[in-house]
Amino acid sequence: MNDVLPDEMARWHLIERLFAEAARSYGFREIRTPIVEPTGLFVRTIGEATDVVEKEMYSFTHRDEALTLRPEATAGVARAYVEHRVHTLEPVTKWFCTGPMFRAEKPQRGRYRQFYQLDCEIFGDPGPGCDAELIDMLVGLFDQLKIPDVRVLVNSIGGAEARARYRDGLVAFLEPRREELSAESQRRLQTNPLRILDSKDPRDKVVVAEAPTIEQYLSDDDRAHFDGLVRALTALGVPFTIDPHLVRGLDYYTRTLFEIKGASAKLGAGDTLVGGGRYDNMIEELGGPKVPAIGFASGIERLIIASEATVPGAIVDAYIAPLGASAVEPALVLGRDLRREGVAVEVDSRGGSLKSQLRRANALSCGIALILGDSEVESGTVQVKDLAAHTQDSIARAEVVRFVSDRLKARSR
Ligand code: AMP
Repeated sequence: MNDVLPDEMARWHLIERLFAEAARSYGFREIRTPIVEPTGLFVRTIGEATDVVEKEMYSFTHRDEALTLRPEATAGVARAYVEHRVHTLEPVTKWFCTGPMFRAEKPQRGRYRQFYQLDCEIFGDPGPGCDAELIDMLVGLFDQLKIPDVRVLVNSIGGAEARARYRDGLVAFLEPRREELSAESQRRLQTNPLRILDSKDPRDKVVVAEAPTIEQYLSDDDRAHFDGLVRALTALGVPFTIDPHLVRGLDYYTRTLFEIKGASAKLGAGDTLVGGGRYDNMIEELGGPKVPAIGFASGIERLIIASEATVPGAIVDAYIAPLGASAVEPALVLGRDLRREGVAVEVDSRGGSLKSQLRRANALSCGIALILGDSEVESGTVQVKDLAAHTQDSIARAEVVRFVSDRLKARSR
């Protein structure tokens, strides 16, 4: 688990702000759900025989209640949807959220035990139009974040029936090749054979390359749904690849599945920026009505590594250096007046030479230093030093707030 230090926050804020703006522009509203949920919620939705539930959850018992730090957002958001009977209020619900998730994984670059996700969920729209829109929204966001080498992978995993038939077909194919599989996959053959398709073990990859794909097991309706997704993505001009072996680590998915990868040069094997898909049966399984749903989650830490967008480095806009005893209180008042006009100001009343004060102004990356000495106080003026333009002006105290805020505004344009 990591500390996020203040130097890194500008990039976090950029990502969170652009995500929230993008989500709102598609009609999503923000929801916040608790970090702790009953363990049973995750076991029922994510699935017993998944890596997350088998080995990665931070679970504990509190007063006889089995609780877990959420390993992902969807289950909690879906629980909230059911609990508040939101389907009685509106036919389609679009929610986004951001926050920490917890998985006891082996930490590596882009993989942490407390990590943050951006998350969107749509309830009540069977797709595939909204499936394509979600993907398009993300591609647009990643373009704004200047993430190189973005690739969209899509697949359909069908409905429950197709999935059950495929499971049988896959087991029939893999069983005779059991000895060629890794020990983990041999075990998965009994518990969750679809997960073998997702294995990173080179032995498994060789076997899986030959395995039947889900495509031939899809029902006509599943196939029509997937064709609709392909047509919508094409109409939106989103480049994508159909990956027939794409399955995801959580059990609840139906039909549309997608992943978005990017910045592989920096992220290596952990270059999956987004995982998403449909989960048309979950709401009913949680005791709600039959409501289709789709969502995705994206890891903020990975976006931070991947993004090449420039972020502002300035800590404050202006720095005030009072020189001499009589200047301290006028400097405090000037600082307060500037802040009221929206200018972020550091008043450094520790004293010291002008040189050392200007060094500090540069360290704060601010564009303007205001110098107030005894003689300025006496003459009712302030020296305004523009550190970017390398100019200095003597401005009347009554004018200086406007002067500084106008100059900063002109610069931000
Ligand atoms: P998942 O919830 O497993 O489908 O993951 C969705 C996205 O969350 C991934 O594509 C990553 O971007 C991110 N993610 C998942 N697990 C971690 C982790 N342990 N550390 C950092 N990011 C993660």
